[in-house]
Amino acid sequence: MNDKLIMTPGPTYIHEEVRQALAKEITNPDLDKNFYEFYKETCDAVKKILKTENDVLILSGEGILGLEAACASLVEPGENVLCIDNGIFGHGFGDFLSMYEGNVTYFESDYKKALDLDEVAAFLEKNHDFKVATLVHCETPSGITNPIGDICRLLKSYGIITVVDSVSAIAGEPLEVDAWDIDIVLGGSQKCLSAPPGLTFLSVSKDAWDKMLHRKTPIRGYYCNLSNWKTWYEDKWFPYTQPISDIYGFRVAVDRVLKKNDYIKRHKKMGEAVRKTLLEAGISLYPVNGYSNTVTTIELPGNVTSTEIYETMLNEHDIMIAGAFAYLKDKVIRIGHMGENCYEEKVYLTLKALDKTFRKYNVKIEGELHKQFVLNY
Ligand SMILES: *Cc1c(COP(=O)(O)O)cnc(C)c1O
Repeated sequence: MNDKLIMTPGPTYIHEEVRQALAKEITNPDLDKNFYEFYKETCDAVKKILKTENDVLILSGEGILGLEAACASLVEPGENVLCIDNGIFGHGFGDFLSMYEGNVTYFESDYKKALDLDEVAAFLEKNHDFKVATLVHCETPSGITNPIGDICRLLKSYGIITVVDSVSAIAGEPLEVDAWDIDIVLGGSQKCLSAPPGLTFLSVSKDAWDKMLHRKTPIRGYYCNLSNWKTWYEDKWFPYTQPISDIYGFRVAVDRVLKKNDYIKRHKKMGEAVRKTLLEAGISLYPVNGYSNTVTTIELPGNVTSTEIYETMLNEHDIMIAGAFAYLKDKVIRIGHMGENCYEEKVYLTLKALDKTFRKYNVKIEGELHKQFVLNY
């Protein structure tokens, strides 16, 4: 066991079974036909988590690779594309869209609230000449989960290809890729699945493949070109040598999610219990609605900095939590209770340390955080 408890919103704790799998003896993943079957079975297992019949790919590179690859592969120069933006990751998606020369329109919405279907609907009624739209399932910095199902179905009714960053939500929040009309959903190994950082996984719908394969201009770049993957299985050919050890570890992590089969429920109970504990103690949360069940973002009172909280938690209690970046820097602290971190004992210890840390800096709290933490599960 790590001498520190890592309670950040990714990378998360890696289960021993996953660590063991990372150490397994390897074969040549380009030449060994058995590896192609193993990779395929792993993709099929991911499909069950995503609730999709669409193709799934696992790429070598952390979550950001998937975001860039989706934009690089889908967007043609000059095309109208929509960036739905209610947070740091949502806005950042727009940078990838413009990097590949999309003509980007931003739909901006309150950074403290989940996206509102009616507002998006009212916007789309007037503006819907878009080929692609990007949005984020869970805004990890602010701790907000967006109602992506309703929004993607609506976008799709206008014939817009939907691209969703669900990196910090997959396996921790409900997700139904097919029922919700998501053309490309993006995930990373290091969040709720609790494998080491290093892999992106994504699903690609028929409409998304069609768009990529029938472009007027070639896809720029190689590593981000998803169309290279269209026939990997038939051809028994990967665009580059697969990170076989990472995939061995990832597979065990995916199988753990499927075998336990309680992830969504467990995250919901945990998210609710953590929020209730903090609110009862008079601590403010950053979001005003759409609370994430995988990460809780706490708004700091004026008399303490996030660095002070971070350092005290780490140095005096051996627990690592997270601050945030960009406009949230020094305004919030975040507890990741996702994947292997989503267990009562770990969250209890975290709240106990946070209780002591808050007291050290004279942050007013009612009662004791850990004693008020009740997980009905
Ligand atoms: C973690 C995360 C990513 C991936 O970012 P990395 O910097 O590769 O960890 C992408 N989107 C969201 C919403 C995330 O939380």
